Amino acid sequence: MFINKGQFKPFEKKVWLASPTMHGEELEFIKDAYYTNWMSTVGENINEVERIAAQKAGVKYAVGLSCCTAALHLCCKLAGERLYGRPAIGHGSLEGKRVFCSDMTFDATLNPVVYEGGIPVFIDTDRSSWNMDPVALEKAFEMYPDVKLVVCAELYGFPGDIKKIKKICEEHGALLIEDAAEAMGATWEGKPCGSFGDYSAISYNGNKIITGSAGGCLLTNDIEVANRVRKWSTQAREAAPWYQHEEVGYNYRMSNVVAGVIRGQYPHLEEHIAQKKAIYERYKEGLKDLPVSMNPYDESKAVPNYWLSAMIIDEDAMCRQVRSDSQAMYIPENGKGCPTEILEAISSINAEGRPIWKPMHMQPMYRMHEVVGRNGSLRCRTNAYISGGVEDVGADIFQRGLCLPSDNKITPEQQDRIIEVIRSCFS
Ligand SMILES: *Cc1c(COP(=O)(O)O)cnc(C)c1O
Repeated sequence: MFINKGQFKPFEKKVWLASPTMHGEELEFIKDAYYTNWMSTVGENINEVERIAAQKAGVKYAVGLSCCTAALHLCCKLAGERLYGRPAIGHGSLEGKRVFCSDMTFDATLNPVVYEGGIPVFIDTDRSSWNMDPVALEKAFEMYPDVKLVVCAELYGFPGDIKKIKKICEEHGALLIEDAAEAMGATWEGKPCGSFGDYSAISYNGNKIITGSAGGCLLTNDIEVANRVRKWSTQAREAAPWYQHEEVGYNYRMSNVVAGVIRGQYPHLEEHIAQKKAIYERYKEGLKDLPVSMNPYDESKAVPNYWLSAMIIDEDAMCRQVRSDSQAMYIPENGKGCPTEILEAISSINAEGRPIWKPMHMQPMYRMHEVVGRNGSLRCRTNAYISGGVEDVGADIFQRGLCLPSDNKITPEQQDRIIEVIRSCFS
């Protein structure tokens, strides 16, 4: 346990990892919905959110849904039916099919693959971007040439080479689902995240770069796709005077009240990104002489939205740390630190950090699933998880990395105190 011997004063109000930042316009649009009685899943707020979301992402159509997970689910259904045909009632459209998925991400990226009966095969992470490794993806296609679908997330708003991922997909006749939940407003080679996938999704979850308290959009350039998604998301009613159904439907449509919040947030997207960038730069500067580095990105190609600042500790500056499935222990050592120690230290001053997303292939539910690195399967290798010159990049980043308090409302003074606390871990 990190013992804060009164050395650092805790913040009176908790400093969050990332919390909603409201501006006032949201209330006006909620009121519009209320006073016009468009309190359901139809209305001007939804229309506007769809228009703005599509425009910002540089795609033709956005469909407003209850959350990004719902959007990803319908992405999977669209891809599954396009690739394999419509399944019999009660069966998933990806049933029994392998799907290549990002490994170091939130599980909502790939849960929808499983909803549709697919079998995630995890692709290891690129050390230089912390996103899906294109080299490992190539390797995976060598091993499983029949795979026709890839689900790729952009981590913490710092895009990797999603263009390369798309190209590899095309070379193998595979479709790409882009999970841009964390990357709204970020670009790769000038092109917005959310515009690379055959089907893409963005999120307005409470801790994302802008929020509606909930909500998400599916992004596409195909009007047929947008129409199908709207139909599926409102219980799949056919055009008839009564409730006529030819296929299974969902209750996934966005609420016009939620859309009001999102509509009020959109004008502040760029401002939020600028705040997040300043937070990232301040950590970078404040930690520059420590044996750590910030989440990496290719400065010549990626413009991140800087959603979460994260850092990774140099291998030789790591004190010993072990994690079970629910607990962590470490042995403090002079001049060294580890994520567990730093997270405890940050928490001792009433600020919130978080471990890196625990890679999916390390999750108990996926222990039997394949994970592919640059040199092939990581399941067959002994000691693959041990830090230091390893092939299992995801496990290594999880072991040595952590997310730092990145709330829009954090002040420079608060950040400086957090930086001091981190420094103390290495003293
Ligand atoms: C937040 C998040 C989601 C899910 O978004 P919801 O809108 O909460 O469903 C999916 N993927 C990633 C990578 C996320 O960070």
